[in-house]
Amino acid sequence: MSEFELGDLADLVVCPQCRSRLVLSAESLVCTGAGCRLSFPVREGIPVLLVDEADELDPADWGKVVGRPEGIDRDSVMDSTGDDAS
Ligand SMILES: [Zn+2]
Repeated sequence: MSEFELGDLADLVVCPQCRSRLVLSAESLVCTGAGCRLSFPVREGIPVLLVDEADELDPADWGKVVGRPEGIDRDSVMDSTGDDAS
């Protein structure tokens, strides 16, 4: 039996909370949404895409996983969910 291709799966599934793309980390699928950053566990090869089972990553850890450059601007992350003062 061949291993399940999580890499392909990650292109098909989205975060159940914010519907952003997910990327495969070592043992989890991580949401690419900057305001979400949920990490979904993969148990015995099966991704558990339940918000209740997910952990929210720190911005720094999340940045490493999703491949963003170091030094994510915390303020800009906050802006994405904040009010849009003009
Ligand atoms: Zn998300």
